[in-house]
Amino acid sequence: MSAAVQAVLATGVGEPLQIVEIEPARLGPGDVRVQVAAAGVCHSDLSLVNGTLSPEFPVVLGHEAAGVVVELGAEVSGVGTGDHVVLNWAAACRQCWFCLHAEPWLCKAVEGVVTAPAGRVDGVRVNAALGVGAFSQQIVVPARSVVPVPAELPMEIAALLGCAVLTGIGAVRNTAGVRAGESVAVWGLGGVGLSAVAGARWAGAGPIIAVDIRPEKEVLAKQLGATHFIRGEGPVAKEIRGLTDGRGVDHAFECIGRPDTIRTAWQSSRRGGQAVVVGVGPRSSEVSFNALELFHFNRRLTSSVYGSGDPDRDVPLLAQQVLAGSLRLAPLITHRIRIEDVPAAFDRMLSGVGARSVVLMDAAAAGS
Ligand code: NAD
Ligand code: ZN
Repeated sequence: MSAAVQAVLATGVGEPLQIVEIEPARLGPGDVRVQVAAAGVCHSDLSLVNGTLSPEFPVVLGHEAAGVVVELGAEVSGVGTGDHVVLNWAAACRQCWFCLHAEPWLCKAVEGVVTAPAGRVDGVRVNAALGVGAFSQQIVVPARSVVPVPAELPMEIAALLGCAVLTGIGAVRNTAGVRAGESVAVWGLGGVGLSAVAGARWAGAGPIIAVDIRPEKEVLAKQLGATHFIRGEGPVAKEIRGLTDGRGVDHAFECIGRPDTIRTAWQSSRRGGQAVVVGVGPRSSEVSFNALELFHFNRRLTSSVYGSGDPDRDVPLLAQQVLAGSLRLAPLITHRIRIEDVPAAFDRMLSGVGARSVVLMDAAAAGS
């Protein structure tokens, strides 16, 4: 069952990605083997190789994925072979202080950049990014890292539920608790920011103001529910105040991870409003606030980790909404690619072209 399969391997910061043959890790008693069907390319994958995050190299990238369970460890229950599953890159231990205090997204076991053995390449042990390593045709993960979903859910959408959608929609609904009629602005219209826009529409928010430097993101954002688009190069905070009776928005979501946009998002929220940092920036980026403005504006500034949710609860719920037709996520996918096209997807991401690229492991389905 563990014949070599293709995978995308990163060997160090700035090193070119390699497409390798990997022998997946041995199945432990608590593990499942998953035949990966689809895997989205998330900016966090890029952040693992550009020095923003510090994984243990060599590492198989990919963490936003869905597939079919093909083998079960001896002690696994609650999931069966043939089940369609979404991968969870922060599977909670259910035992630490955070898990026992209903904050599984802050689970002690998945704090920081977690790597687990992915298998061997030419006899050398390689790691799995965020404990998943989904840019691989087959993976072995603990059973708690998979969430079963209905088989009728398209695999490419199921994959996105595992990161961009849980994160973006969770930031809006769980972290910020956006309510109907509240105003929202979102910076950065990649998979995560566009999901936040979709979450704001689902919550009945309005206006929903989408901000990006790439003008072609306007069409995508409006398909997902944005009511306004602002090109993120001018006086964005002023334009946002102009759309909100001079006040600023109730909720601002920064989905890029840059100090300037974090600062603008905070400045664009109303007095007493809140700014949520969803983007992940490097340790070297600092954001500053003066003491008087912190007091005067009475804003909350917080971050959202994996949508402040519980994938075991939220993934099935999101899947249900998609199947019922009340959550339309199809516009999120702009490129369907093969595993060897991941480096090109990174280039598109760097220049802000498109939204999600999704690797389809069945080569015949890719390329559309
Ligand atoms: P992406 O690269 O697909 O999208 C980023 C978008 O930001 C692009 O549309 C780009 O044009 C835009 N952008 C870049 N600079 C800008 C600027 N100065 N002003 C306005 N727009 C600008 O990224 P993604 O995959 O959607 O991920 C977004 C961020 O979310 C990343 O930092 C990623 O690491 C992070 N993330 C966080 C979590 C979490 O748990 N909080 C989970 C997943 C991803
Ligand atoms: Zn991600």
